[in-house]
Amino acid sequence: MQETKSLNQLVLIVDDVPKNLQVLGSVLKNDGHRVAFAKSGEAALEYVAQSQPDLILLDIMMPGMDGYEVCRRLKTDPVTKNIPVIFISALSEDEDEYLGFELGGIDYITKPFNPKIVNVRVKMHLQLKRKTDMLEKLVSIDGLTEIPNRRSFDETLTTEWNRAKRDKESLSLVLIDIDFFKKYNDSYGHAAGDECLRSVAQTLSNTPQRPADLVARYGGEEFAAILPDTGCENAIPLAEKMRENVEALKVLHEANEASEHVTISLGVATTIPGDNSTPLALIEEADKCLYNAKETGRNRYSSVDCSE
Ligand code: GH3
Ligand code: MG
Ligand code: MG
Repeated sequence: MQETKSLNQLVLIVDDVPKNLQVLGSVLKNDGHRVAFAKSGEAALEYVAQSQPDLILLDIMMPGMDGYEVCRRLKTDPVTKNIPVIFISALSEDEDEYLGFELGGIDYITKPFNPKIVNVRVKMHLQLKRKTDMLEKLVSIDGLTEIPNRRSFDETLTTEWNRAKRDKESLSLVLIDIDFFKKYNDSYGHAAGDECLRSVAQTLSNTPQRPADLVARYGGEEFAAILPDTGCENAIPLAEKMRENVEALKVLHEANEASEHVTISLGVATTIPGDNSTPLALIEEADKCLYNAKETGRNRYSSVDCSE
């Protein structure tokens, strides 16, 4: 498998006949697309496990795993199910084409193909893919802070909850709230408040180390961190690191009774999800801890381990 470099969208071409790869490849490269090749269904699945193409041109008849099976597998994996698949096949019966669409293909081109037609169809589907990607980003990212929004938080919490329950692993949740933020707005104005939210958000999301951790904007001046496979012995130091990092920003906040800079309070709750617990109960536990951190002076965390 080889790849040509460019900033454009990536098309994976899957065909067992090298000549077909070559012809399709040069058509698409001439139009400025990045192109990758796979000579079998198995190689195609291996490729998408490593990097995500924006579009797949998929032959159907191949030795080993055929194109239909490749498509079926791509569409059942949450990571690859949104990659558009265009079948390119010598099978030209209506039934073949129908099956291609049934399996989730977005288009069906019969061989021998006209390179110009392949080109315009690829271009059209790539445009659609770019728009879909943009929409997906818009619905999951908070506009002000540019970190994941409440919707992402809800989705991730459900997914991680189910995973932790299945694998009997710990799951920690940290709720974070800026101290005396109303007073910050009152002192420095709403625009400065927005700027402060942006820096706090960036600092928090740069603190966790693991790829599976998620920091989201939970509400107005509240944030939340989901820490999969993390017990309280690791969640607490992380919460403390977040608190230190925000304080280290040294954003002046004279009306903050806990410090002269902007600070946060945090509630940390850990559990091993079971049949008698719910994500909502974990949020409530973290919220109680956050309340406790506020009550006992702010600029601190409070924690509870519900997994015993
Ligand atoms: P506490 O220490 O108890 O958390 O006090 P607080 O003042 O931070 O809490 P409160 O909930 O009373 O006030 C939250 C403030 O956050 C009020 C609201 O105007 C402000 N806020 C919420 N969202 C935004 C936003 O997007 N931008 C700005 N600038 N302010 C916001
Ligand atoms: Mg609040
Ligand atoms: Mg607050």
